[in-house]
Amino acid sequence: MLKDPLVIEMLNEIIQEEDEGSISVVECLVDGKDTDEEIAEETELRLNIVRRILYKLYDAGIASYKRSKDPETQWYTYSWKFEQEKIIDMIKSKHEEVLKELRECLQYEENNIFFECKVNGCRCSFEEASENNFLCPECGKELEYKDNSVFINKLKDEIHFYESNNLSISFESASPNSK
Ligand SMILES: [Zn+2]
Repeated sequence: MLKDPLVIEMLNEIIQEEDEGSISVVECLVDGKDTDEEIAEETELRLNIVRRILYKLYDAGIASYKRSKDPETQWYTYSWKFEQEKIIDMIKSKHEEVLKELRECLQYEENNIFFECKVNGCRCSFEEASENNFLCPECGKELEYKDNSVFINKLKDEIHFYESNNLSISFESASPNSK
């Protein structure tokens, strides 16, 4: 079973299927089932659905296939492989993007002071507030100074979480009798 929430989240983003079966297609690949027929049989999904999911994974670069010709029937067989390293790379670069945004956000929070409307929670930086004579741009009530240190600490915690997350993702193989 695939348990890692980061992997599941990324797969859902890639596959974008409402069908819950799509994760099980990946699980089959991780478990070493490599043909669409095998996967369809194991997951009880229709063959065309399995193929669609496989090609979505291929499109995203996290699955690859080898084509081989059966010498007797002359038919082509596709054997599929899940590219674990690729998905880990994708998760890593996504985290780097999140970190970049969080750091920018922290910098903005630390370099500015803020004002807030007590009526509707509208929040303005000092520049925005002074341009508007310290009145709420939405309802016209007076803006009040808003301490953002709690928010800053939350941002710092989040940054720390992503910085210390070294992504030890494991792709566990299902035990033979788990199904
Ligand atoms: Zn207001």
